[in-house]
Amino acid sequence: MKKLRISLVFFFRPLLSTAVLLFLAIFPMPVIGAAEPIRVVATLPVLKDLVEVVGGRHVQAASLISGFESEHTYRPKPSDLILIQKARLLLKIGLGLETWVEPLIANAAPANLLAVTTSKGVELIDDHGADAHADGHGADGHVEGNPHIWLDPENVKIMVNHIRDGLIKVDAVHEEDYRENAVIYIERLSELQKALQAKVAVLKTRKIITHHPAWPYFARRFGFVIKGNILRQIGSGASAKTIGKLIRQIKAEKIRVIVSEPQLNQKIPEILAEETGARIVSLSPLPGAIPGTARYLDLIRYNVESLVSALEK
Ligand SMILES: [Zn+2]
Repeated sequence: MKKLRISLVFFFRPLLSTAVLLFLAIFPMPVIGAAEPIRVVATLPVLKDLVEVVGGRHVQAASLISGFESEHTYRPKPSDLILIQKARLLLKIGLGLETWVEPLIANAAPANLLAVTTSKGVELIDDHGADAHADGHGADGHVEGNPHIWLDPENVKIMVNHIRDGLIKVDAVHEEDYRENAVIYIERLSELQKALQAKVAVLKTRKIITHHPAWPYFARRFGFVIKGNILRQIGSGASAKTIGKLIRQIKAEKIRVIVSEPQLNQKIPEILAEETGARIVSLSPLPGAIPGTARYLDLIRYNVESLVSALEK
């Protein structure tokens, strides 16, 4: 009996291992970690949208600030530290904009965190003249240029390439996907830009007053003319003298549109509109503050189309 049992085991053993091998071939065991998406932390929601486009299902992204907050005055939450601790890739604009993220990186960043500055190589607008913007001062006090580069789709192409390269560095396995997604998206940016430029081209007047100096790249790309800013920097108010000067300017230069931003106090744009008869149009520098603008392409379309329709009235 004992002899029979042994011979049965010997008989079945090769069959058994073949079955196991077959099973493994059909249902491969997941290699630990391979199926985990790359964790990305973005300082701004626009960077979160871009990395989701380029990374697709290979990334899991979070933005530190929402579209309802100001990119200048954000105060980090304890949960932001946890996000950074778990991240493999961090995306920021740089140019001294996100001064609030540097202490977070210094205190919480894991050793292998790759921080990517997406503004490298962008042709900057230096508006530190009469209408100085305090943002342009980097951590070292160096004046670098206006940081709102993402409001020009042409700059976003450069940013997308930085994001693609960052993803390839931390996840080379999916290089082909990242390259393909970036190419497709850059094409979509070009198409949208062309369509929107055609809408602006037929306008008779393109003069505007803006809420804070977020719009020089946007204006340069699409052909709007910024005649003044209500706030020179976030956190400072506008003096009665500044308001009086703007009222006289709006009347004298026949400026018909004032851009306000949903993240900022609406009081001064309202006073200016009341005093001059100019109309207010609300545009957002960040995705998500206005319904239907969570994705960057929708945000840019919304901003240009709203401004065009306000200017043609
Ligand atoms: Zn700003």
